[in-house]
Amino acid sequence: MSEDLFKRLVSHCKEYGFIYPSSEVYEGLNGVYDYGPMGVELKNNIKEYWWKAMVQMHDNIVGLDSAIFMHPKIWKASGHVDAFNDPLVDNKDSKKRFRADVLIETEIDKMLAKADKEVEKAAKRFGETFDEKMYRETNPRVMEYIQKAEATEKRLANALKLGDMADLKALIEELEITEPDTGSRNWTEVRQFNLMFSTQMSNTGDDGKLYLRPETAQGIFVNFLNVQKTTRQKIPFGIAQIGKAFRNEIVARQFIFRMREFEQMEMQYFVRPGTEMEWYAYWKEKRMAWHRAVTPAEKLRFKDHDNLAHYANAAVDVQFEFPFGFKELEGIHSRTDFDLSSHSELSGKKMQYFDPELNEHYTPYVVETSVGCDRMFLTVLSNALVDETVPDAKGEDSTRTVLRIAPALAPVKCAVLPLLRNNEELVGKAREVYDSIKLHFLCQYDEKDAVGRRYRRQDAIGTPYCVTIDHETLENGTVTIRERDSMQQERIAIADIARIVSEKVDMAKIL
Ligand code: ATP
Repeated sequence: MSEDLFKRLVSHCKEYGFIYPSSEVYEGLNGVYDYGPMGVELKNNIKEYWWKAMVQMHDNIVGLDSAIFMHPKIWKASGHVDAFNDPLVDNKDSKKRFRADVLIETEIDKMLAKADKEVEKAAKRFGETFDEKMYRETNPRVMEYIQKAEATEKRLANALKLGDMADLKALIEELEITEPDTGSRNWTEVRQFNLMFSTQMSNTGDDGKLYLRPETAQGIFVNFLNVQKTTRQKIPFGIAQIGKAFRNEIVARQFIFRMREFEQMEMQYFVRPGTEMEWYAYWKEKRMAWHRAVTPAEKLRFKDHDNLAHYANAAVDVQFEFPFGFKELEGIHSRTDFDLSSHSELSGKKMQYFDPELNEHYTPYVVETSVGCDRMFLTVLSNALVDETVPDAKGEDSTRTVLRIAPALAPVKCAVLPLLRNNEELVGKAREVYDSIKLHFLCQYDEKDAVGRRYRRQDAIGTPYCVTIDHETLENGTVTIRERDSMQQERIAIADIARIVSEKVDMAKIL
């Protein structure tokens, strides 16, 4: 999908009530979005798909809904107060703000693209006899680009690890990085910027400073003992949570990919120390299977982290090919015992588990899976939006926009349409059918415009089925049912609608 199609997707989301910019009447709020009537349905279905796969399908995973406000010491223990930073740099001429690491990564991508271009040119020149591998390893110009990219990547990772802001600035200067819009090279020093939002609570003593949680995980860690005791779960077991998280992202672009307020679906799996790598491999596979059930395999890949976070001993991203390239959709991290140990230390409460099989106490290790609900939403829509040429009622070519969303995730499952709006009998019957099936799944009743246009409206929001009430319905109690993707129509009995649609939209189909 190209940038143009991405723009189409953003405008489609607004036009059909999936996503609106927040506070639009006041010219919007950067990096914040509202989900409209169709958006909230799709989002709820995505959450249900995740919850069923994690909690319902595993008898050793239980749910939690912890508060957004938490004791400020939690963020000290977790390392977020000291280390949840991104390197920030301002351009003095354009007054625009950038992430220094992203500027450098973009430069590395350019070097690699130059190497690819050289290879492409050579492939054309040499034709069938071309040996790409050999060319990449021997052509001096290609080698120079690749070596420069690799050296820069290494230096970037090292500077980030050491928190060496001066070296990031030096890299920006040495690579002669310019501001993308103005070409200016007039940069400020690079400095660390903490991504947590803070607020004030009265009567808490101290200065009352609280943080809005930047991840849902800590609510799970500090409830570890409560949950383990009340559910009597034995290790290994998991705690799952869906909830809002807040990050003061330096640059919030790319629609709902990077927001300042977003939702996470996280699961922390508590395991015996020493077994974490087995569970890490297990969850990598499980989570990839969950994605593949609704996303083509070639648009998904794993990317190991080069630069491990302070708490992790292994980490991998599930990347999806968004309209702007392969980017992180989900993170799977082996978090060691870092969080539970830190909370034990700072709170003075031992957060351990007694393992009856080993007859010993230990601090469990944790493997976590963390997927952004909004990024999953963008993934589903990027896969689904299609403009296609189809024959119209007269058999001539016409374009239709269709959202090919998995039926289980589709916002509306079935539309009920009387053939004519000014025929009382048809309208009455259609209302009756609508009332009889709305108990089972979300339906829409629509009588406005010609039936062909109504089908197109339903296609555009991804409704898998449209049921039309016509004159024959009044005679023999049958309706036509039209399937979204094939546009095939069949006659079925009214009494069968609920069963046929329920089967098709059942979550079990993708679980
Ligand atoms: P990125 O590198 O893209 O900033 P991250 O590595 O900081 O992401 P994690 O801390 O691993 O992200 O968070 C887990 C998941 O939460 C991510 O995989 C992503 O789906 C989601 N997420 C993180 N930040 C945002 C954001 N600003 N907007 C929307 N979703 C986000």
